[in-house]
Amino acid sequence: MRPKNPPGSRSNGAEAATLRLFRRESACRVLGPGLRAVLWVQGCSRACPGCVVPESWSPRGPDSSLEEVADWILECPGVEGITLTGGEPMGQARALACLVDRVRSRRDLGVVCFTGYRLEELRHEDHTALLARVDLLIDGPYVVEQHSDLLWRGSSNQRLLPLTPRYLACMPGPEGDRGVGLEFRFEPDGGYAFAGVPPWPDLRRALPEGRPR
Ligand code: SF4
Repeated sequence: MRPKNPPGSRSNGAEAATLRLFRRESACRVLGPGLRAVLWVQGCSRACPGCVVPESWSPRGPDSSLEEVADWILECPGVEGITLTGGEPMGQARALACLVDRVRSRRDLGVVCFTGYRLEELRHEDHTALLARVDLLIDGPYVVEQHSDLLWRGSSNQRLLPLTPRYLACMPGPEGDRGVGLEFRFEPDGGYAFAGVPPWPDLRRALPEGRPR
């Protein structure tokens, strides 16, 4: 029997041509090793209390073509890799796997992927397809009661799981497992965006209304 997708998932099938994105950033240093292009996918059904980007939960949003997103990634200056976050990347796993293939057919970029699921839960063929293309998986839901200031993780239940050797040298020892803070970008109209894993819980409550992450 075909394994079920996680609730709220959006499997595009093998012919995936589009992706539903919440946000993208062309130069980020706080969501994975080095300088990265970051894609926040639209849609997550987990509703973790304390999530810093609840605006991404809705599955509704505009579609972007994989061709356009791949071209955008490849034009991001100086990036070493891509980070996939959300929202829930496993909800659009097939489309993201196709996107990675498009990008890597032109340049060898590393792939970091965040997911609210544990690796052991990801058994659908679409998940397997994406995981086969991921170098570093950061898994598990954010649990506010276990909030911790850790490298690329917001709570101590979340794991850094190298799936290839690409980022093994970046894995922290116990002494070096500390967060790398946030990046803010301020817009001319007074709005702002931020990226990264907050070092303290309830960040959103402390910030004025604005664009998340
Ligand atoms: S899995 Fe991530 S995006 Fe989804 S609700 Fe939890 S913290 Fe937010």
